[in-house]
Amino acid sequence: MRLVFLGPPGAGKGTQAQILQQRFGAKQVSTGDILRENRAQGTELGKLAQSYMSSGALVPDEVIIKMIDAELDKLSGGFVMDGFPRTVAQAEAFDCLLDGKNLQLDAVVLFNADRETLIARLTGRWTNPRTGRTYNAATNPPRVAGIDDDDGGPLVQREDDKLETVGKRLDVYEKQTAPLVEYYRRSGKLVEVDALAPVDAVTKEIVAKIGVPVEQRAAG
Ligand code: ADP
Ligand code: AMP
Repeated sequence: MRLVFLGPPGAGKGTQAQILQQRFGAKQVSTGDILRENRAQGTELGKLAQSYMSSGALVPDEVIIKMIDAELDKLSGGFVMDGFPRTVAQAEAFDCLLDGKNLQLDAVVLFNADRETLIARLTGRWTNPRTGRTYNAATNPPRVAGIDDDDGGPLVQREDDKLETVGKRLDVYEKQTAPLVEYYRRSGKLVEVDALAPVDAVTKEIVAKIGVPVEQRAAG
């Protein structure tokens, strides 16, 4: 299973990528998580990314492409790209990288949601920085506020999930990432899901639309 999840911040890409990783073993590759990890460890990459991320801007394409190239070498099975590509230049570079490794994408899943819902989801999001698992104060709270159900670790609110930055990130999506919808539509690989539906229903729609064999669906 080799998928790209495309859609605005807050649409539920990470939530669904984690579910598919658990059910089908396709590794979630979140460029945002990789960058945050680098920031936490104080690497050169993390320092470079810092100012872009905290203002809600995109990290430069060449930095991201290099990062994904290195990441692809670590993937033996399938993957779900979560938050990559985010520009046409990244998508073109990704096509070249995949060609070079003789790999093909199965599908690109577009998550459709309205701006009002996205703002509510992002400003209510709580994240486990260690695992990337997210909760939502309104729609999907942890059992104990501020504590991860799985590992008991602390949940945090991302600095770029503050209202001031959320608007900017949604504008950046419209301007720089939305053109990828046509890019992937032309490739014939685009499928669309209603990201406003409850988490389970979104998973079902993805699984139905990407064409997972029935026996594999049942196993999950
Ligand atoms: P993305 O990775 O696209 O930025 P997330 O998966 O982190 O989005 O989800 C954003 C927020 O919305 C999180 O707080 C998450 O718990 C919540 N969320 C995700 N999917 C749904 C859904 N289908 N219905 C309601 N809330 C959701
Ligand atoms: P995310 O966790 O996907 O919401 O990403 C958080 C931030 O990381 C974004 O606002 C960007 O600053 C940066 N980022 C993540 N993925 C990319 C990407 N593919 N291209 C450029 N910047 C990215």
